[in-house]
Amino acid sequence: MACFIPLVEDANLLQQVLYHRDTLIDKMPRAGFKSITVSDYVYNRFFGTYERTRRDLELKGITSFSGYLTSMMDEIMTKYETFSRHAPFMEKIDVDQNRITVKDNKRKRIAEVFLKDDKLRCSLDESIDCAHIGFVYSLPEFYNIIAAKGIRISRPSFKQSKIKGNAFI
Ligand SMILES: [Zn+2]
Repeated sequence: MACFIPLVEDANLLQQVLYHRDTLIDKMPRAGFKSITVSDYVYNRFFGTYERTRRDLELKGITSFSGYLTSMMDEIMTKYETFSRHAPFMEKIDVDQNRITVKDNKRKRIAEVFLKDDKLRCSLDESIDCAHIGFVYSLPEFYNIIAAKGIRISRPSFKQSKIKGNAFI
């Protein structure tokens, strides 16, 4: 029966191997968590933003860097899913300071989404949580507008069934 035993003759090297093994074990994620590896560039970019916005994040109940990443990934994925779901049907027509015009190719209508009192409202549906609002939340231009205005908007929590079901489209 063959048995593989790593041959480490150099005591110094052995120490290093053991040290790295212990470090790796220390870094194993807790049950129910997964760990991923990202480049220094990506890490630093996120960590820099985290450090700069730490106080605001604490107000939102985000108290750790991993909590920040989790919320960012959740937000980005929601945007991505909304965008990929609606992109074939929605087109951005025009963007100005208080209004984003969206063409709904499915309903063959134009929806104007207005930004008023820090809230978005769709003129077509007279709604604050229709598909057009969801689409606007997926547009980088929207974040440029609110950043320029110094507005902080918390994304309304769209009902899960609305995002997953066809009703949202
Ligand atoms: Zn609408």
